[in-house]
Amino acid sequence: MADYISAMPIQPPAIARVVVNLSLDREFDYRIPERLRGQVHAGTRVVVPFGHSERVAYVVGLAADSTVHGLKEILRLENEKERIPEKLITLAQWMADYYCCPRELAVRAMLPAVVRKGTMKAKQQTQVVLKPEQHLGEVVPALEKKAKKQAAVVHALVRLGGRCELRRLLREADAAEAAVDALVEKGIALLEREDVDRDPFAADTVLPSSALELTPEQKAALESVTAAMQAREPKTFLLHGVTGSGKTEVYLQAIDHGLKAGLDAIVLVPEIALTPQTTERFRSRFGETVSVLHSGLSDGERFDEWRRINEGRSRVVVGARSALFAPVRRLGLIIVDEEHETTYKQDEAPRYNARDVAVVRAQMEKAVVILGTATPSLESAHNCKVGKYVLLTLPKRVDNQVMPVMQVVDMRQEAMERGQPQIFSRTLELLIRERLERGEQVIIFLNRRGYASQMLCTKCGYVAKCPDCDTAYTYHKQAAQLVCHLCGRVLPAPAACPACQDPKIRYAGLGTEKVEAVCRKLFPRAAVARMDSDTMTTRDCYRKALNEFRAGRTNILIGTQMIAKGLHFPNVTLVGVIYADSSLHLPDFRAGERTFQLLVQVAGRAGRGDVPGHVVVQTYTPFHPVLQHALLQEYAPFMEEELETRRALSFPPSTHMVLLLFRGPKDDALYAAAKEFAEKVRPLLGPETFMVEPGPAPIPKARGLYRYQISMRGGNIVKLTRLLRPLVGNANAALRPKEMEVTVDVDPYSLM
Ligand code: ADP
Ligand code: ZN
Repeated sequence: MADYISAMPIQPPAIARVVVNLSLDREFDYRIPERLRGQVHAGTRVVVPFGHSERVAYVVGLAADSTVHGLKEILRLENEKERIPEKLITLAQWMADYYCCPRELAVRAMLPAVVRKGTMKAKQQTQVVLKPEQHLGEVVPALEKKAKKQAAVVHALVRLGGRCELRRLLREADAAEAAVDALVEKGIALLEREDVDRDPFAADTVLPSSALELTPEQKAALESVTAAMQAREPKTFLLHGVTGSGKTEVYLQAIDHGLKAGLDAIVLVPEIALTPQTTERFRSRFGETVSVLHSGLSDGERFDEWRRINEGRSRVVVGARSALFAPVRRLGLIIVDEEHETTYKQDEAPRYNARDVAVVRAQMEKAVVILGTATPSLESAHNCKVGKYVLLTLPKRVDNQVMPVMQVVDMRQEAMERGQPQIFSRTLELLIRERLERGEQVIIFLNRRGYASQMLCTKCGYVAKCPDCDTAYTYHKQAAQLVCHLCGRVLPAPAACPACQDPKIRYAGLGTEKVEAVCRKLFPRAAVARMDSDTMTTRDCYRKALNEFRAGRTNILIGTQMIAKGLHFPNVTLVGVIYADSSLHLPDFRAGERTFQLLVQVAGRAGRGDVPGHVVVQTYTPFHPVLQHALLQEYAPFMEEELETRRALSFPPSTHMVLLLFRGPKDDALYAAAKEFAEKVRPLLGPETFMVEPGPAPIPKARGLYRYQISMRGGNIVKLTRLLRPLVGNANAALRPKEMEVTVDVDPYSLM
């Protein structure tokens, strides 16, 4: 049979398998009409008849035959230039299977929305070209007599090499468009339209940088990476190095090695770290061949950056999560910086983790992955232990600077001695005064915005709660508002208790706004600034605030995790953590890991110059093992202990987890649906999978919808999602009329 087929003239396949741009989670077969044979590939976008209308569809595969009779034909191709590379279709298929999400959503994730929509056009410019074969010796003197402006245009064109963009030419010649029109009319010049890129970097210039002489540790790390790249061995390296240990320099040199060997690179950084500072380091090393992809670009810029990559005109892509799907030609290296960051996980379908999918994409394309971090995720640490990843370490800071001194302050004792709970301990207050006197800078960290986390009536016990989310409102004093941090509902803050009219309303709990107010009182002469999502509403605000701080015009910077990461301020010598407990006692098995990471990251902000840093951690549980490890910055013992605990309780990373979330407006009906689902799944699960029966989610209600969850862990994840896929599909089909919904989250990061 096989011989017979190969002996036949090769016929392009006649059937295309497509997913339609609708939430159907199904593939459909269409016949490829004769005139389009050979032009349709996996990744091509086509228009197909669907029901009574036409739909855009993505081809996911080709076949010679179909089992379906009476197939309809593909109508036409859609924006051929912007097709999805075939290898990304394969990746999307993998994502749909692994993350148990509708196929068309996974496929669509491969193209930026602006490319997908297909309405964006390349920006065009008009070029004015001097026609060749002219006797300018005769033309110009004639023009000079009768039409001075036209002559000036010709002179300018000659000077600029016979070709120039219209606007610029008019400036150079100090002429109006009419002069050019006249020259075109006379057959002296002609106009050409040309595609040009919208350049997100047009405004700034970057000084070139060259490779630094590496330290022995950096050199060893780089050599492992480049050896794998050279052999096209799809290895994953975990590059564990404290902040300032020179990880970025290793990235840069690995990319350079790849470029010289014809290999392209993708660099993922958390969205928040996509500052001009970060992208500049890549541009100053590689110049024009760097593309950036992030949410701060205009649609036009994003469209052009994508096209530049797609056409092979840029070969290094720096971007947030979705830049992983950049259509680079010959992928040699993927870098995931700050791999432990939770922002790599998308919180809507497809709920993928870019770090993990990076490893899969690299396997498919024989590329190498570097996961870089100062605080590896337990997942990556586990993968090193079992031999899936290779660990590389950079144990010291490049400048040999000593690590900051960490000190714990017991806030229980502080409260006892001073009669009531405090925001600033005497230790922290004293140290801040010292820094202010010396002209050094201070960072104060608290992971909660707003003024107070509760409005509480001390007389009747009333707590103001959002009716849609059943959660206490956060009080924002400056705006005099109560804000629900779950759904964003805002209302004016009452002056008296709405229940008993008592005017003595108390605000309990703590947020950055209150820390700022107290700080201004304690240090009236200091310049204090606050950075959290309330004050930093635009990218520009953020840049300005950072510039002020960098320039030394701000003495004390207060903020949420927004300031915990990746920023370099050599004059910061003190970091205060107001309340380390806030993240430690969350109902999440990763609470300890997150707190450890946060403390180490925050500590990394102190003492980067020639003065060693000091970190003060205020807490009500000073002997908590996580704090103890963080204090000594002992990653390995922390990880060993934590891995052991997770293993004992069979939590990730020793197992995989799948979380099903049911949401709906009717409490009882929703619970019943969740229970029914559990009944259906239970008999299908093997003994290796453990299911937690349906129960209210830690956030039991949000935006007016009740929330129940079922979690499962253990066993083979692909087997589990294959089994869940039809059940979830059916449940949603049955639930939708009642406005309920079940979503699946594989390897979830948020358990709320
Ligand atoms: P990380 O990414 O681990 O935080 P960086 O690569 O940003 O570390 O390095 C920290 C600082 O040290 C940067 O200013 C960088 O230019 C410098 N640096 C890195 N490697 C070297 C080196 N081998 N020699 C001298 N300076 C270096
Ligand atoms: Zn709410």
